[in-house]
Amino acid sequence: MRKDWIAGALAACLLLTGCGAGAETANDTETSAGSSAQTNTEEPVSKEIFSMDTYMTVTAYGENGQKAVDAAEQEIERLDALLSTGSADSEISKLNAAGTGQLSEDSAELVSRALEINEGTDGAFDITVYPLMQEWGFTDEAYRVPSDSELAALLEKTGSDRLDWDADSSTLALGDGQAIDLGGIAKGYTSGRIMELFDECDVTSGMVSLGGNVHVYGSKPDGSKWRIGVQDPENSEDIAGVLEVTDCAVITSGGYERYFEQDGTTYHHIIDPSTGKPADSGLSSVTIVSADGTLADGLSTALFVMGADRATEYWRQHADEFDVVLIADDGTISVTEGIADVFSSDHPFETISQQ
Ligand code: AMP
Ligand code: MG
Repeated sequence: MRKDWIAGALAACLLLTGCGAGAETANDTETSAGSSAQTNTEEPVSKEIFSMDTYMTVTAYGENGQKAVDAAEQEIERLDALLSTGSADSEISKLNAAGTGQLSEDSAELVSRALEINEGTDGAFDITVYPLMQEWGFTDEAYRVPSDSELAALLEKTGSDRLDWDADSSTLALGDGQAIDLGGIAKGYTSGRIMELFDECDVTSGMVSLGGNVHVYGSKPDGSKWRIGVQDPENSEDIAGVLEVTDCAVITSGGYERYFEQDGTTYHHIIDPSTGKPADSGLSSVTIVSADGTLADGLSTALFVMGADRATEYWRQHADEFDVVLIADDGTISVTEGIADVFSSDHPFETISQQ
């Protein structure tokens, strides 16, 4: 695999700028907001943003590229302020503190999609894992391994079935001791919103990378497909393969993204809601490809928890909605048949077919 290709989003940026080794980096193409009213349709407008605890890059081509990138930045900041559990003022933090609340449009949409995905994945995706995230120290980086009895007490309160959601009034009432966390789905929703803004601004092509989660609008300006690297879970400098796609989200969940080590064991941030512990399903990453960013994000987390067999079964029932690249702990790469033709890798990989 070419060494100058860097994983995920960055790979997409490099490929976007047409960079080979020694060519300009994504940073070099950055155009700061308001710098130029006139945008050459050939030139990308690109901006790096730090929000939602991650580095993001938004890039758009076309006459309205600058307008689209500015609108995307505002949208990212608006959604972060609404959804972040890290800020006490967010709508979600206030809901968690009060135990009940009426949600605004975006939060309501996210809660309702999260509940749908929770049901569809038999609870593998569950926004009520937040108290478990806190107990493991992932919310404040005061990492610790909880005792079995501490986990058992928290599991009593975990479960989306204990939430009382009234879709008509957009009112959510949490069960006793519950708190929610939209971190497993918010970035995909955000990238989906940015695609809507790109559409409204009528950009010719564009892409956004939110901490390695990529969403592309249209094809590249020259009409070719976007090339998006899937990170090698074992080596952040390398990629396991490349996906060539248009108009879709490519969203990865991996245990390598956030973790701590204690006594020789690694504990990562994706919690299996049935055990209260970091999921240990035999997968080291799951990459979902779908036109629906929210779905892609929710499912990347859920299928990581489910493991290869359940994930494959789930895909077979929903093959019209998404495709997936599964990378197992032993390095085995499996790709569903809908994207087998657009995935390439230096490593051998198997194709998961409908039957
Ligand atoms: P992602 O990187 O999309 O897989 O999301 C991981 C984030 O989602 C974590 O940092 C938590 O905030 C949250 N999370 C962890 N486990 C789950 C789960 N089983 N279901 C839903 N959200 C989760
Ligand atoms: Mg996710």
